[in-house]
Amino acid sequence: MRKKIVAGNWKCNTTLTEGVALAKQVDSLVAERGAKDVVVVLGAPFTHLASVAAAVDLNRIAVSSQNCAAEAKGAFTGEVSVSMIQSTGASHVIIGHSERREYYHETSEILNKKVALTLAQGLTPIYCCGEALAIREAGTENEFVKTQLEETIFNLSPEDFGKLVIAYEPIWAIGTGRTASSQQAQDMLAFIRQLIATKYNQTIAADCSILYGGSCSPSNAKELFSQPDIDGGLIGGASLKAEDFLAIINAY
Ligand code: PEP
Repeated sequence: MRKKIVAGNWKCNTTLTEGVALAKQVDSLVAERGAKDVVVVLGAPFTHLASVAAAVDLNRIAVSSQNCAAEAKGAFTGEVSVSMIQSTGASHVIIGHSERREYYHETSEILNKKVALTLAQGLTPIYCCGEALAIREAGTENEFVKTQLEETIFNLSPEDFGKLVIAYEPIWAIGTGRTASSQQAQDMLAFIRQLIATKYNQTIAADCSILYGGSCSPSNAKELFSQPDIDGGLIGGASLKAEDFLAIINAY
């Protein structure tokens, strides 16, 4: 059975004090109001992971990094390895966010290493994919996303594939306030699920949690989450306000 997941991506926002306060607020709101059967994940900056993990009840809230090193350890100044991330109490790693692909030139080759290291360490990759506006306007978004998957996570064994979460995030909808319509999001997620069924099998496809991300907010989350193939959201801006994030979680 696939899980419903609402994951926040704080990006390069919040000081340590602010991040811990936000995590505590989310944790207590979830404790008060419940999250039904939604897995709640907080994607905090590296510097905050240990403190955020210590500030929340990890039975209620999972903690994620937003990236990881492409090497296990060694002379890679400034990098943060998956085992370091794991040692903080975090359980998830966001991999291949479009901002990392674009600004830090993360290729499929790099993403494959990151996914493999994350899985080897027993953490859950939240693998991001999605097309730019020009590709959507050219009507080639399905082929584009298919290639992204074929070059990366479709190289995994069925067993490993079954451990990851996918987040489809059209780049034109990220941080722009321009959300994909629920039909556009549903169509792409159904397409991805069909690709998984063809590559692996129906059971693996049915069990894979696929999230939508891109200007998801308290006002559109209900409509998005009501779609049959949308298993939750990866939430940027709205995850920085505990009440908004909770409203999205409770949109289920
Ligand atoms: C994101 O960056 O993952 C994201 C979905 O951002 P936003 O919700 O702000 O569009």
